[in-house]
Amino acid sequence: MMKRNIKDCTLGELESFVLELGEKKFRAKQIFSWLSKGIYDFEEMRNIPKKFRDQLKDSAYIENIVCEKILFSKEDATRKYLFKLKDDHLIESVYMNYRYGNSICISSQVGCKMGCSFCASTIGGVKRNLSPSEMLEQVLKIQEDVKERISHVVVMGSGEPFENYDALLKFLEIIHSQEGLYLSYRNITVSTCGIIPKIIDFARKMPQVTLAISLHAPNNPIRNSIMAVNKKYPLDQLLQACNQYIELTNKRITFEYALIQGVNDCEEHAEELGKILKDMLCHVNLIPLNKVQENTFIGSERKKAERFQEILEKYRVNATIRRELGSDIEAACGQLRRTQIANEE
Ligand code: SAH
Repeated sequence: MMKRNIKDCTLGELESFVLELGEKKFRAKQIFSWLSKGIYDFEEMRNIPKKFRDQLKDSAYIENIVCEKILFSKEDATRKYLFKLKDDHLIESVYMNYRYGNSICISSQVGCKMGCSFCASTIGGVKRNLSPSEMLEQVLKIQEDVKERISHVVVMGSGEPFENYDALLKFLEIIHSQEGLYLSYRNITVSTCGIIPKIIDFARKMPQVTLAISLHAPNNPIRNSIMAVNKKYPLDQLLQACNQYIELTNKRITFEYALIQGVNDCEEHAEELGKILKDMLCHVNLIPLNKVQENTFIGSERKKAERFQEILEKYRVNATIRRELGSDIEAACGQLRRTQIANEE
């Protein structure tokens, strides 16, 4: 018999599983809470009777990922983690300390297939999806390392979360559970490069979670040239979906805009962006592009970013220039990758 990965279970699924094993439903809450505490051995679940612990051992297992390496930023408190999965695949996650709390950025896939030309995560394509338990494990392992509660989670590491949609929804439900980490949906952000059908579905299923859209261009020709996904889901349709999302959720959308020298950072691009976003409930995060060795794109200078922001404000479009954490350890946006931590050895 295949053993059940019980860390993949939402509380509801765990309850059914416990009932199937002939135990009382309330045991599920106890087990669920142990799992979220980072317990990896059924023997340590002290409030579970010995007989049921043995039964669990025979029919289920507890997912565990291994921390291979931690890089510490010299500039700030940021840490980058390299984790090894059961099948030896490697993924990266990042811990950031902000005034408002501890935030972590997790990966949703091993690699990424979206092919954005400026991003390191997509080099080498996608190997596989992560399971809900592998996403949860990134949170648990980092929490254990920093010995403080993680209050914010952003799904902005390697991978396209909306290409691993069902696992993503389960993961979000699991970390939100009161018996688990009890993370507020409002403190969770999911970022997508623009998979339109999922944006609408997400608005219905997870209306409280913050949605970020990787926009990076004010028109189709530029967006086509740097983001392959735009050919399938063009900008006008994407913005329509965003408007629908806002209508359904009453929530502000975050647009990520990486400023790339000579590609999307001119005044006319800011004007164009201002025009398309001007009546929308949104916020623009301007990020001077972070360096990725494998491509020739260069991030815009601070002055250029400030000018861009000014123009957006003229259109009453809220914009901030994001402080980049952890770029010295390649832990910043777009620098996470599958195979190894660059700069090592
Ligand atoms: N696939 C999802 C989740 C990844 S989030 C998405 O695309 O939204 C990672 C964010 O970093 C995205 O906004 C991505 O476009 C951005 N990014 C990628 N490469 C970057 C780089 N070199 N500098 C700054 N941001 C980058």
